[in-house]
Amino acid sequence: MPIRDALRRIQERIQEACIRSGRNPAAIQLMGVSKFHSAAEIEEAWQGGIRLFGESRVQEAVEKFTPLKQQHPELELHLIGSLQRNKAKAAVSLFDGIQSVDREGIISELGTLTAQRDRPLGILLEFHTGEETKSGFLDEEQLYRATDKVLSYPGLVLRGLMTLAPYTDDTAQVRAAFKSLVLMRDKLASRFPSCDWSCLSMGMSQDFEIAIEEGSTLIRIGTALFGERYP
Ligand SMILES: *Cc1c(COP(=O)(O)O)cnc(C)c1O
Repeated sequence: MPIRDALRRIQERIQEACIRSGRNPAAIQLMGVSKFHSAAEIEEAWQGGIRLFGESRVQEAVEKFTPLKQQHPELELHLIGSLQRNKAKAAVSLFDGIQSVDREGIISELGTLTAQRDRPLGILLEFHTGEETKSGFLDEEQLYRATDKVLSYPGLVLRGLMTLAPYTDDTAQVRAAFKSLVLMRDKLASRFPSCDWSCLSMGMSQDFEIAIEEGSTLIRIGTALFGERYP
């Protein structure tokens, strides 16, 4: 399916999920996850109206998005895959946000690298809600410590939480994962009321409607927009 038609279909499904759950579609950001897809496909999605893109690997993102960002200064790019220390410097100079902050070590690394920035780097803390790869912080104690750590670096600014639901057809399990992210956000917001917890990045091609019903503010869509990936 052409990207433009796929995008229209996704927007209809977002609308329908919003009607079902009494939400405003304007409160849900749509990210195009472009890993393994070409610059030409990304350009097509841009032309269709996508302004936020997500990539999982730093090197691939540098190659594709360095020219694209020069061409489209308003394009926003977030990292959504786990970040290795030796890639942190390149990540900080390319990405506008890091959604996959999944351990304390990477917070210090990013904090040090962003010390001189005039605009702080927006980050999301990744909470593990059951997905197999087990990335992300595991409980509220870890997230409290991570939040304290982020607050100690002026170059970083918290924007909220991110999760991957378990990859399963069992929608009850998926819904429970999203509910647990919302619950965790509420706990963090009461413990750290002066932080911005407004972003809840949850929902992918397979489960974004459930995520919207449960309160997602940012859905990360790859396959439903660009088609299958061939790594
Ligand atoms: C690949 C990826 C996505 C998009 O997955 P689709 O199922 O293709 O929509 C979303 N989030 C993360 C973290 C990913 O790695």
